[in-house]
Amino acid sequence: MTAYLLEHALLPDGVASGVRLEVVDGVITEVGTGTAPTHVPGLTIPGLANCHSHAFHRALRGRTQAERGTFWTWREQMYAVAADLTPDSYFELAREVYAEMRAVGITAVGEFHYLHHQPDGTPYDDPNAMGRALLAAADDARIRIRLLDTCYLAAGFGREPEGVQRRYSDGDAHAWAERVAALDDDRVGVAIHSVRGVPPEQLATVVEAAAGRPLHVHLSEQVAENDACLAATGRTPTRLLADAGALGPLTTAVHATHLSDDDVRLLGETGTRVCFCPTTERDLADGVGPSRRLHEAGAVLTLGSDSHAVIDLFEEMRAVELDERLVTQRRGHWAATELLAAATVGGHASLGFDDAGAIALGQRADLVTVDLDTVRTRGCGATPETLVFAAGGADVRPFPEEGTR
Ligand SMILES: [Zn+2]
Repeated sequence: MTAYLLEHALLPDGVASGVRLEVVDGVITEVGTGTAPTHVPGLTIPGLANCHSHAFHRALRGRTQAERGTFWTWREQMYAVAADLTPDSYFELAREVYAEMRAVGITAVGEFHYLHHQPDGTPYDDPNAMGRALLAAADDARIRIRLLDTCYLAAGFGREPEGVQRRYSDGDAHAWAERVAALDDDRVGVAIHSVRGVPPEQLATVVEAAAGRPLHVHLSEQVAENDACLAATGRTPTRLLADAGALGPLTTAVHATHLSDDDVRLLGETGTRVCFCPTTERDLADGVGPSRRLHEAGAVLTLGSDSHAVIDLFEEMRAVELDERLVTQRRGHWAATELLAAATVGGHASLGFDDAGAIALGQRADLVTVDLDTVRTRGCGATPETLVFAAGGADVRPFPEEGTR
């Protein structure tokens, strides 16, 4: 057993000071008051959940803004990076990305993985070599991972995969499901790339293969996806997913930017989670999704750094509120505690990790500490508002290792 005295801690009902914590084998066994040999200064919080990651996009940071950085500048370079990666180089890159996440307070990641095969589409000797590279990278960086193995079969409605997309495709959803079954690792979840990437008649196969595991899907990130879906099926992407049985509490819809009133209602009443990625959505000029309306309809908010133009969940948290302010010309949509819940307990749950995200009995002690004496945080106070509106990833300090003092 290791006992800690936390100067301040973010508990489920707010910030408390002088909190004594006991940890046994990485699990919190007591939260109370008293003394302890290991004093942790600052504001200790549950480790953050980054629910949407494409590790390989990190290679594009700073490089896709040339000549004013159009969407095509970005997409051409993204495809070039995707074409070059091997299991070895993917491991090296992902290990660095996950180490960066750990350094800024992220303790769990949802990796939305579709770079499955060799550049011409031929499987590797181990058809799951790329997925295993990501799992190994997470082990190395000591981050908890949900590998969201992604079914990605088409370039668009009625269109075969083109160019580098051949790496993504297993041919059909049954072949995809067989490969995922062979991965045989309890950290695996599943994903539908998007309604563009999986033909409508094959969506149900992916849903069935999820079998109680988290299911993530890109949803209505850009208006063009909605237009193509309506033209091909007469339904919105949300309605199409609902009809395939793909919505529900185990499902996370990523982006959910351009939604009809009916879409918002469907996502809410099915208890589907939504993952907003504001730093990527602004980088790619996607737009601003209706975060508060979704919340009020019943959809639980989570957050992700997606393309990793920025990896900083503090920035993602405040962007949700600040973007709403720009759209509505009004302040006061989200409370800081609600945004912290999105980055912690809500996020971990969307990755299928119900034992993380709160400083409470029986929860994993996956904790990090925010320094309240940096140039950004000094004088702001030990409050949820400081965490969301003042702090950044650079203010995070690692929590002392169990048994090191
Ligand atoms: Zn994405």
